[in-house]
Formats: sequence, structure tokens, C-alpha cells
Amino acid sequence: MPIRLHDSLTRQTLELKPAQKDGVYRFYNCGPTVYAPAHIGNFRTFVINDVIRRLLELEFPGKVKHVRNLTDVDDKTIRRAQDEQRPLAEVTRQWTDKFHADCAALNCLPPHVEPTATGHIHEQVDMIDVLMKKGNAYRAADGSVYFKVSSFDGYGALSRVKERELQAGSAMKATAADADEKEDVSDFALWKAHKPDDGANAWDSPWGRGRPGWHIECSAMSKKHLGDTIDLHTGGVDLLFPHHENEIAQSQCCNGTLFSHHWYHSEHLLVDGKKMSKSLGNLYTLDELVAKGFSPMALRYALLMGHPRKQLSFSLDSMHAAESALTTLKNFRATLLPGAGLGHDAFGPVLQALHDDLNTPAALGALFTIVNRYAGEVDAASFDRAIFALGLDLNAAAAPQATAPAAVTALAEKRWAAKQAKDFAAADALRKELTGAGWSMLDRKDGYSLEPVKK
Ligand SMILES: [Zn+2]
Repeated sequence: MPIRLHDSLTRQTLELKPAQKDGVYRFYNCGPTVYAPAHIGNFRTFVINDVIRRLLELEFPGKVKHVRNLTDVDDKTIRRAQDEQRPLAEVTRQWTDKFHADCAALNCLPPHVEPTATGHIHEQVDMIDVLMKKGNAYRAADGSVYFKVSSFDGYGALSRVKERELQAGSAMKATAADADEKEDVSDFALWKAHKPDDGANAWDSPWGRGRPGWHIECSAMSKKHLGDTIDLHTGGVDLLFPHHENEIAQSQCCNGTLFSHHWYHSEHLLVDGKKMSKSLGNLYTLDELVAKGFSPMALRYALLMGHPRKQLSFSLDSMHAAESALTTLKNFRATLLPGAGLGHDAFGPVLQALHDDLNTPAALGALFTIVNRYAGEVDAASFDRAIFALGLDLNAAAAPQATAPAAVTALAEKRWAAKQAKDFAAADALRKELTGAGWSMLDRKDGYSLEPVKK
């Protein structure tokens, strides 16, 4: 069953398959800037990318290489270090550790390689050097190096920026600060000459001391760890322009070949229908939701409730709905026995929905349709595969669930059958036996679950 995913460059839905003969699927996902805790909007992107990773692992077992970078030097990280009067590396280590802890709580698989910008200065300098030699870049009077956008015909193909925004000049406001040094307003920095504000955070280069521009790190790290051409490059829609447009320009001019076969962007998260912002007080972190009594797994579930290519409005109500859905799934799982049931992949429709352009709300819908239909009758493996793809760790959701021993499950099955046959006397007697064994049986319309008797 092929995985099909929207491609932002061609605006088509394309099949995911490794392009190279070794059969390795090369997947690059732009990572966080490590200067503060990531907010739930950031985690929407990382959770969606984790579902892509999981689908790839199921489809190409042992043949997936996933790289996600850490931006550990830029204006924001340097400013944070200076405000706190701490070394940059100490600040970025603190927020890297926090990011890893949050990702683990959200059950995101770690990437196979997690390169840092400061760990790849040499690779970035090498790439800029090639761009200089090929005439795609120039050194300004202050020692900064800029990419010459007019030297790359393909510029704007991803974002359609030439037609939409370049003419209006609106997209370029962010780079207006260094406009004096550039030959053209649309050119962007590959290397930033050292300024007093940067403190000790500077490296040597053929153009003088300085630090890399942000965009070049992804081109350089992708090349180093995945090669010149990759299969899939992803990120949030806010990275489409200028970041990804600039990555394409740098990589294709340097390497002289296609950069990525496939581009995928997930949409923004809104909170209560509004854009997240500090001033509105709606910019949640995972810790803030946990402090309100929610489980991290409920956040993961809530982030999957909307189609990844549409804006999703998050609310605390959606967290309550997610907690309750997870409890239902956990109870359902407790009724399943390995190898029992219908002997077919009952939960296949969940994966089908995910393979169809990562339709996570349809996948969750299919999951519950099947859960409601087949209590206790399906093979646990089929359910577990669907749950793995969604990345829902049911053991991490709400209170931990104990697994009933086989003898207890057998008693429960007997009692369920007695109840279905309306033999209530037998059902009551069996319930007492279960209680005596330390288990209570919770009846629902379409099945039951077992929980240890609360002491
Ligand atoms: Zn990037």
C-alpha cells in the first residue's frame, strides 16, 4: 500500500519511494532553534513529522534515514545567551535537553542523526566557498557573504514568490536590516561578518571572522548526512519562504543537481481560533498543559485531530476529548488477545487513511469505527500496528494500565458470554469470582475492559 503525500513544489500528491539504488529513504526535517521551550505549534509539526517517520519505518523497515537539525547559533540563541550572561553552548544545551524530553513525552522517535549548526561550521564554509567560486555568491564590504538570487533561475519555484510577493517587496522586510550591504534586496546572507553584539560567537572563514547565516546550515547538514539529493524535505509552512526556497537555491547551485524529490509542509496551529502569541496569552508549552492536569499523550492526540495541511484550532476542550479517546483506546486494547479474532488486518483502514496524504482525522475516525464494531474480536497485532503509526503510547496515557492474566481474561470472556445470553445469575457469580481475583470488569455497550480492583 503506497504512501502518498502532497508535494508543495509540484502541488501534486506523489508516492513516497526511495530514489536511490540502495533503497534507503532519505528524509530531512528542519528542527528547532534551541533558545526557549518549543510551544505546541512547533510540536504540531514535529508530531506530524513523526507520523511520516513511522509510516516510512513500516513501509521500508531498516531502510529509513531521518535527519533533523538543531539550530544552535543565530540571532535568537545569541541574544538569549547574552541576556543571561552565559556561554552560548550552555544555553543551547539546556534547551536541547528540554526539547528532547518533550519529544520523548510526546512519543516522537528520535532522528537517526541530529546535527548542530555549530558542529558543522566547516561544512557550511566549504559550501559557501563553492558558491563563491561558481559566481552564485559575493562578499560585501563588511565581510558578509550573500547569495545572489538573480544567479539562480529556479528561485521562487517552491513558494511562487516571484509572482506573489517579490514584486510587492513585502516578503523582504525581514531582511531589510542588512539591505545596505547587499547588491539586491532579495539576496540573503550565507555568512554574517562578526559584530560586537555576537560576542565570542564567531568562527574563522576565508572572508573573515563571523558566523553562518541560518539557511546554509540545512543545505550543508543535509548534504553531509544524506547526500546531494534527498527523497523528502519537510517543515512547517512558515519555513516554505524564505528558508526552504533559499535551501533549494544554495544546494542546487552548489551541487549542480536536484536537492529534494519531495517537499511537505504542515499548516499552522491556532489556539481558540486565533494565532498564537505571547501577548494573547495563548502560547502554550507542553509543561503548561501538564500543569493543567493533561497527559502529554493527549496533546499528541489533539494535534492529530486536524488535517496536517489545514490550520487546526486547538482548545482545552480538545484536550479533554483527547484524554477520553485515549482512555477508550486503552480499555479496548486490554480486551484484545494476541492471535485471536478475525484473522485479517481489521485496522488496515487506519493506515490507509494515513497513506492517503496523511489524513490523520480520517485515521482517528476509522480507528474508532473499528473499535466500536469489534470489541475483543480482533488480533492485537493489527490494532498495535495502527497505534504505532499514530505514535500513541497508550501506557503513557492517563493512569497506567495493568494487563490481566490469561485466567482472569478467560473468566471475563465467560461472564461476557453469560451476559450476552442474558444469564444474569451466572454473570453475577462470575463477576464475584473476578473481584475475588482482584479484577473489576467494566461493561460498555459493545464490550468490556478489565481494571485491577482499587484498594
Ligand atoms: Zn532548515
